[in-house]
Amino acid sequence: MQISNRIKSKGLQKLRFFCQMCQKQCRDENGFKCHLNSESHKRQMEIFGQNADRVIAGYSEEFEADFMELMRRSHPRARVAAKNVYNEFIADKYHVHMNSTKWYTLTEFVKYLGKTGKEHTPSPQAKYAFPVLCC
Ligand SMILES: [Zn+2]
Repeated sequence: MQISNRIKSKGLQKLRFFCQMCQKQCRDENGFKCHLNSESHKRQMEIFGQNADRVIAGYSEEFEADFMELMRRSHPRARVAAKNVYNEFIADKYHVHMNSTKWYTLTEFVKYLGKTGKEHTPSPQAKYAFPVLCC
């Protein structure tokens, strides 16, 4: 799904208690615990267990693509801190959760971008590239 479509459906629902595996948002901690014990979640976990590497690689790719797209779109001319982009990123209720990616934390993701030189990807209209400066 394109992030622009997702942003239209952006809700104010709290993002805690979200099960990435099942793409399920639970209302509260209790609901989340219930969900973790449900048959459908256990089935998902089994599938995940057999394909963990592939599943994480998929989430990582999606996370990176969405994150970079948001950065290009929202901050085409600015130098911007990763934390600021991330805060906008997680406002989208369908965002890929950081802890489902191979980086696990924003710091690791930024390190990865730095290592691969991707934080300097310029947009066509940008005066200068927009490095992700810090977390
Ligand atoms: Zn689940």
